[in-house]
Amino acid sequence: MSNAILVVGGGFAGLTSAIEAAELGHDVFIVEKSPWLGGRVAQLNKYFPKLCPPSCGLEIQFQRIRKNPRVKFFTQAELVGLSGGKGDYTAKVRLTPRRTAPHNVDFSLLASTLTGETGNEFDLDLSRRKALYKAMPFAFPDRYALDARTLSKSDMARVAGAKFIEAAEEAREIALDVGAVIVATGWKPYDVTRLTNLGAGSVKNCVSNMQLERLASPFGPTQGKIVRPSDSRVPLNVAFVQCAGSRDQNHLNYCSYICCMATLKQCLYLSEQNPNVGITVYYIDLRAPGRYVNVLEKVEARPNVSFIKGKVADIVQAEGDRVTLTAEDAVRGEKLTLTYDLAVLATGMQPTLAGENPPLPLLLDEDGFVAGGEEAGIFAAGCARMPLDVTRTAQSGTAAALKAVQTVKGR
Ligand code: SF4
Repeated sequence: MSNAILVVGGGFAGLTSAIEAAELGHDVFIVEKSPWLGGRVAQLNKYFPKLCPPSCGLEIQFQRIRKNPRVKFFTQAELVGLSGGKGDYTAKVRLTPRRTAPHNVDFSLLASTLTGETGNEFDLDLSRRKALYKAMPFAFPDRYALDARTLSKSDMARVAGAKFIEAAEEAREIALDVGAVIVATGWKPYDVTRLTNLGAGSVKNCVSNMQLERLASPFGPTQGKIVRPSDSRVPLNVAFVQCAGSRDQNHLNYCSYICCMATLKQCLYLSEQNPNVGITVYYIDLRAPGRYVNVLEKVEARPNVSFIKGKVADIVQAEGDRVTLTAEDAVRGEKLTLTYDLAVLATGMQPTLAGENPPLPLLLDEDGFVAGGEEAGIFAAGCARMPLDVTRTAQSGTAAALKAVQTVKGR
């Protein structure tokens, strides 16, 4: 029997669960797929409720982890098996080699000499990255990762003899004894290329809301200047397309909860950079829960922002890399065809587990959210359970930690 807790996922929910359980005296193992902790929040420019940059809230979490020897974390790690039962599980975890020294070494010079490149997943392909890379300046752990698949032939020779690089490091598996599991696997942006009528992936200057977060981030591909990806021009008019993939039985059959607030926040980003930018938000409903209604009122009061209630039917390429959008104005009963410099799809939130077959005795609902498993000592936290904002994600992480602690307490 073990009173240790396994947390699958090192985003905001997983970090919160891990810290809360550890501070109650339990050993906790975090297993995170990517090379760094922080999850989706790390990719944002700012987040609600206070519109802080992610480094702010995450740094507090990282400090608590650094100070608590009960929390152990594994990055580039994946749960591949779970055997046993409630209170007495053995988790099998596969570790992908990081291939860099286990301490903070500045590889920026070596990285700059490499020629192999791939799409930067952290920037949602708005930039390219080298094989030796660190996704963000506030990365935790503060270590580079070496992605061997991206090395060119000449890169291989360069890194082979480099100090503090272990190019030949192999993958390995470890076993962890735990009494309960917290599933904090988070969410992924809905694959907008499936919305073929909305031009994602085929129409230039039609981006997702997460891509706009990267454009607005000082650590993003444009150092925070919001420009059109095709030609780096500042957009003079921008359309937001709400419910892009959500509330649609052919795509996500639910409201993604965060995308109205994300759009309002992004209206503020754009207006701060250029108070004269013309913004039109096409929506079915505008959801600003609780105190967030203040943000809606603030954006509605801006003279440069207008709202049109109506569903966007399609988006096509127009001259000069502009985008032409056709929509129905449901209030006036008019069909509109208008052209913009940039279109932003308020893309929905899909649970990471959707379409996956996790090695856990979990019940997923038809959308891929965790719907059961507590009887087996397995608890879901954050957006693995339902669409949530960061504040509610943290609350959900705490709740899952308390349930996990009750499960293993006294064992
Ligand atoms: Fe649509 Fe807003 Fe719900 Fe997102 S939060 S699915 S944009 S109503």
